[in-house]
Amino acid sequence: MFTPLSIPIVDGHVHLINHHGIGDMLELSNAAGIERINIVCVPGTPERSLSSNSAALLAKGMHPASFYVFGGLVYNIGEPGTSEGFQRQAESLRAMGCDGIKMLEGKPTSRKRIPYRMDDPVYDRYYAFLQETGFPIVWHVADPGSFWDPARITEETKKNGWDYTDGTFPSKEQLYGEVDRVLERFPRLRVIFAHFYFLSNHLRRADQFLERWPNVSFDITPGSEMYRNFSRDPARWREFFIKYQDRIVFGTDNATPREPREKTMADMTDKIRMMRQFLETNERFEGFGCATSRHVTGIGLERDILEKIYVRNFERYAGSAPNPLQIEPALRHCREIREYARGAAGQESLYRELTDLEQKLQDLGE
Ligand SMILES: [Zn+2]
Repeated sequence: MFTPLSIPIVDGHVHLINHHGIGDMLELSNAAGIERINIVCVPGTPERSLSSNSAALLAKGMHPASFYVFGGLVYNIGEPGTSEGFQRQAESLRAMGCDGIKMLEGKPTSRKRIPYRMDDPVYDRYYAFLQETGFPIVWHVADPGSFWDPARITEETKKNGWDYTDGTFPSKEQLYGEVDRVLERFPRLRVIFAHFYFLSNHLRRADQFLERWPNVSFDITPGSEMYRNFSRDPARWREFFIKYQDRIVFGTDNATPREPREKTMADMTDKIRMMRQFLETNERFEGFGCATSRHVTGIGLERDILEKIYVRNFERYAGSAPNPLQIEPALRHCREIREYARGAAGQESLYRELTDLEQKLQDLGE
């Protein structure tokens, strides 16, 4: 029986699907020993996620000590993106009380929805602003290599809509190349790359990347493949975690529970337990199972390193307490998207959701 150490944790990578899930997020955290949560939003496009920032900001307003928010850019409602426009969006997310920016722009499915490469000059003023202000980014780039490989892709991956084998998606190397070009021009950007930058099967490359860019970190948000990859050589990965103990951030990808709720909640709690057992012990245990392997082996880190991974490294990027919500700018953002939804075909439910969110945000201010 594994008993985790008593250390407060910040979960740096959680998705709030809609504002009805706020209570569940807190309940889950309390059950799993998480003290604070970073809600990472996703970019909004006419197809999806346009209420993401407003729902996350409501969570922050309701529970100011519990929720950080990394907001997302909004694309092409009204007018095409401009360099000034993306900079203004970053400024206004910061003014609303966001603690950073989440970019899902490097996930192949998002990249396909969004009409710009990550190194497109349209982002120049935006990156320059983030670099000047030190406003941090959680940035999802690429995905596991098997998602591009017809021989290795799983049915579950296909079901999730992440089948990149048909040649219409950017390759993994293309995406890495875009990020390199951004960092070459903006080397002081403060980035936490999500999911270990999908290099858990490339220790040398992960090492070179962190050596080259001293202001970036990796989060250890599963992908269960990550922990199986680490388990192939726990001793060397342990060294890696010790060497980069200041550059690794805890995150889970937990989200508003789906039905059946009880089971989803239990699975998410169990994921946190497995991650902690991996980090805190040298045990070989059943976890992150798949068809070919059911076991992972822990790397047994020292307590002071665990404290960095669980809380201090994230705090170095986003502060030791979440920024307070600024209601007026948050309301302006909510109304702007509501106004778009009012006039747009097929956006009736988005319109209703934002009307509801606006009311709830307004109530907070009173
Ligand atoms: Zn995520």
